[in-house]
Formats: sequence, structure tokens, C-alpha cells
Amino acid sequence: GEFIPYFQAIVRSDNKQWAGAEVLMRWQHPREGLVRPDLFIPFAEHSGLIIPMTRSLMQQTAILLAPYAQHMEPGFHLAFNITARHCQELDLIEDCRHFLQAFPPGHIKLVLELTERELIVPTEITHQLFAALHELGVMIAIDDFGTGHSSLSYLRTFNVDYLKIDQSFVAMIGVDALSRHILDSVIELSAKLNLGTVAEGVENEEQSDYLTAKGVEYLQGYLFARPLIGDQFITSLLSRFDKRA
Ligand code: C2E
Ligand code: CA
Ligand code: CA
Repeated sequence: GEFIPYFQAIVRSDNKQWAGAEVLMRWQHPREGLVRPDLFIPFAEHSGLIIPMTRSLMQQTAILLAPYAQHMEPGFHLAFNITARHCQELDLIEDCRHFLQAFPPGHIKLVLELTERELIVPTEITHQLFAALHELGVMIAIDDFGTGHSSLSYLRTFNVDYLKIDQSFVAMIGVDALSRHILDSVIELSAKLNLGTVAEGVENEEQSDYLTAKGVEYLQGYLFARPLIGDQFITSLLSRFDKRA
């Protein structure tokens, strides 16, 4: 019970309204306080505990957020981080099915974020897994896009729907012309592949304006919202929804 979800909003670039959220794991340690995921996720992966920990994260998220589904616009995205290890087992299918069943039918979109840093080896299992996830309507995003080596065929094999441009590229905006060219090619590439794009690590107006002008669909970063504990996320969600209603 010490591993809990935090939620960071993702906004639509054209109107800056909340279009979804990424679920980020935190370790609420009895003595150490809140522990950042990069300090424990690698151990959770090595030990295999990442599978039950993610299952628990999905269950906690459903319990917290499902009662507020009516305050989320239809098609609201809820995104979880998944590791290559998850993709060699079929358990994930049931975990996703249960998660979706907690919400009104068709109201939210479940997104699984797979980092580009560790490529998934296609096997009979991964083929079955991605076919079943697709059938359930689960969407796949490639996280940290631009930092790894995924090819066009890789993106096709895993039926990818979104690319998340890594924050190191967003940080290049306003720095120098060469860095900006690198970012521009990453954005152009994702447009050519006909995939939705999300930029993460957006911290200032200059970055937000630049990415919006370049046609990046969704933005995520401290400029819009920090990762929030469940109660605070729900409070913020409700106040926004009330203002619009
Ligand atoms: P990530 O998936 O790339 O998540 C984005 C990270 O960027 C988060 O760090 C988030 O808090 C941070 N961030 C968001 N906006 C900004 C910004 O404007 N500026 C900056 N500098 N940072 C921003 P966090 O929560 O510490 O997570 C770190 C990494 O740990 C995640 O990177 C992800 O790879 C991993 N992680 C987190 N939760 C889970 C999980 O449930 N499962 C797995 N497998 N990995 C997770
Ligand atoms: Ca992520
Ligand atoms: Ca990322």
C-alpha cells in the first residue's frame, strides 16, 4: 500500500483544456517520505514486482477516479507507464479490461506508454498481447520518442497511436538554431507517420507557443500542472469542469 498514483494533466494545445492525465508512481515511504520513481522502478523491473505494482496502480486509479468520470470530457485519456517486461505476459490484457470496466462504457481512453529506450522484441506473445489490447480499444504511445531507435516497422508492429516527444527536445526551444532543427525533424517525423503527438516537459510559454504553432496536439508539463496526489487532482479537475459547465 505504499506505492501510490500521482496524476499529471495533459492539455490540448489549441485550447489548453485538460484532455487527460498520466499516472506516475510514487513510493510513500514510512521513514524516507516520498521517493521518486527513477530510484525504485529499476529494482521493481529486475525483481518482476513491476507487474503486480502496476496492477495495484491501475486498481487504485480506478477507485479514485471512476466516481468522477462525468467530470471528464468524453475520450479523456488516462495513461500508464508500461515496461518491456509487461509485454512478454498476457496478464496485462485482464488488468486493462478490469480498469476499463470501472468506467462508464466508452467514456475514457486507456493509453499505455512504452519507453523507446527499451525496445520490445516481437514474439508470439507480444503479437497476441497487442492484438488483444487493440481489440479492447487500448491506445499505445511511444514515450521518450527521439531518444531510442524505433523504426517505422517497429511502430507498425505494435500498432502505435501516439508519440511523446522527449522533454530533452522541448528544452531545446529557444536555445540555438541547430537544436531547434533537431526538434523540428522529430515533430515532422511524427506528423509524417500520421500519429498523434504529445510534447512533455513544457515549462514555459515560449515552448508552449512554439509547439502549438508546429501542430503538436497535446502538451504536458509544469507550465500547466505538476503531478498531483489524487485528492488535489480531483479538486482541480472539478473546478475546471464547473467553470466550463
Ligand atoms: P516519464 O514517463 O517520462 O514521465 C515524465 C516525467 O517528467 C515525470 O517524472 C514527471 O514528473 C516529469 N515532468 C513532468 N512535467 C515536467 C516538466 O515540465 N519539467 C520537468 N523537468 N519534468 C517534468 P517522474 O514522475 O519522476 O517519473 C520519472 C520516470 O519514472 C517516468 O518518466 C517513467 O519512466 C518512470 N515511471 C513513473 N511511474 C511509473 C510507473 O508506474 N511504471 C513505470 N514502469 N515507470 C514509471
Ligand atoms: Ca511516461
Ligand atoms: Ca517521457
